[in-house]
Amino acid sequence: MTDPRRGRWLALLLCLLLSAVTLRAQTPPPAADLPQPGLTIYVVQRHDTLYDIAQAYSTTIDYLVEINSLNSTSRILVGQRLLVPAGDSVTPVPRTHIIQPGETLAGIAAGYGQSLAALMQANNILNADQIYAGQVLQIVAPAAGNAGVATPPAPAGTAPTLGANLHTVQSGETLFKIAMQYGLTVNDLAAANGLVDLTLIYAGQQLVIPGTAVEPAALALPAPLTALAVSPLVMTEAEAGSLVVTTATPATVTFNFLNRAWQVVATDGGTRHVVLLAVPMFTAAGIYPAQLSVSGAGGPVEYTFNLRVLAGGYGTQNINVSDELAPLLAPAPQAYELDLLTRITSPVTQTRAYTGIFSLPAAAAMNSPFGTRRSYNGGEANTFHTGADFASAPGAPILAAAPGQVVLADLLSIRGNSIVIDHGWGVYSVYCHLSAINVDLGQMVTAGQVIGAAGATGRITGPHLHWEIWVSGVPVNPLTWLTRSFP
Ligand SMILES: [Zn+2]
Repeated sequence: MTDPRRGRWLALLLCLLLSAVTLRAQTPPPAADLPQPGLTIYVVQRHDTLYDIAQAYSTTIDYLVEINSLNSTSRILVGQRLLVPAGDSVTPVPRTHIIQPGETLAGIAAGYGQSLAALMQANNILNADQIYAGQVLQIVAPAAGNAGVATPPAPAGTAPTLGANLHTVQSGETLFKIAMQYGLTVNDLAAANGLVDLTLIYAGQQLVIPGTAVEPAALALPAPLTALAVSPLVMTEAEAGSLVVTTATPATVTFNFLNRAWQVVATDGGTRHVVLLAVPMFTAAGIYPAQLSVSGAGGPVEYTFNLRVLAGGYGTQNINVSDELAPLLAPAPQAYELDLLTRITSPVTQTRAYTGIFSLPAAAAMNSPFGTRRSYNGGEANTFHTGADFASAPGAPILAAAPGQVVLADLLSIRGNSIVIDHGWGVYSVYCHLSAINVDLGQMVTAGQVIGAAGATGRITGPHLHWEIWVSGVPVNPLTWLTRSFP
């Protein structure tokens, strides 16, 4: 027989226990109840990264990962509570926002719960229309302290959006380690930052942390535009970039940038529009307007945003040329060949033959980089090295860097025996100083196919392969194409 009093006591005890558990789940623990002394709780805010939080609490990401039992690839979520070292002098968690094309200052301010005026003042911006894609905004924390347990968690259902953010490289860090911290791949990180040599990062360098959706509220694109992506966000002299625009309905898009119209390739039934663009060498660093014109069912729509161009930082060298070759230094043959290549590489073939990254054109070390400004026999440095050189032995096989169609196979006075391959969408590769040409005009080639042999034809001091990439009539750094894929 059971004792009814004992049953009542058990029920009461269970009730108390349950309510205690419920209470613990609903209210933050009092400071005295923290699992370890010397720790407090930080509530993750929008756009926080573990790196920011570690900086603000003078600790390391590794320590935060350890005390919060996170794994190195987990993302932190808005409203999540993290244990952090308790300290008297905690600096506000610094936040940065990288402006995406299509965003407005008003939209960005709203996304961070700030007034437009406060955002502009914090960033010394006088005219809200003069912002540019890739611009880094400092987001000043709202007045209420966000350290400790006072900040309420984000309401249920709030999407944990993490904006694009910046990571300042610390000494001893590798790209791999940084990628791991943000749950990214090294390739994602390299692509977002236009990095060519994955080992060449330096302490203090600021890396864009990509892969995160833009706050939709901040986008202010006129219909029928639905999305606008520029890659990389900040352009560089003599490098290529891409623009992808989507429209709700089929439309015709034109694009003007750097005082020229760029050909737009329409895909997906006229709702996706792609431009491969290139910043010509000697373009001054600065902010340039990028103008879209969209004509669809609802009449033409104009949309302008700003893009930044950085200097390429290419070096300068003087080359002494013997008297017998000196006639080739006359501007005429150089201008003739540049005109010829500009003409050949300007058409934009609407079908794309290449996908992903390009492959090396030769199995040889590179011995002269792209872009070096050149003066000959002490003259003015107004020309530049339009390709990259590989120390290929005479007769060594030369390989197509990507699939495409041969649009030139001929002997040129400076470049010697040369091949030009059209890869589609305005992208061309050029192979020079060859001893033999194995392909015919109009022939389709595959990536890695032997198209000729290395040699020393044309204006040259020794045998090598001179390799160029042109985009819509503009020579660009070919090495970028070996590590970065364009859409
Ligand atoms: Zn060269």
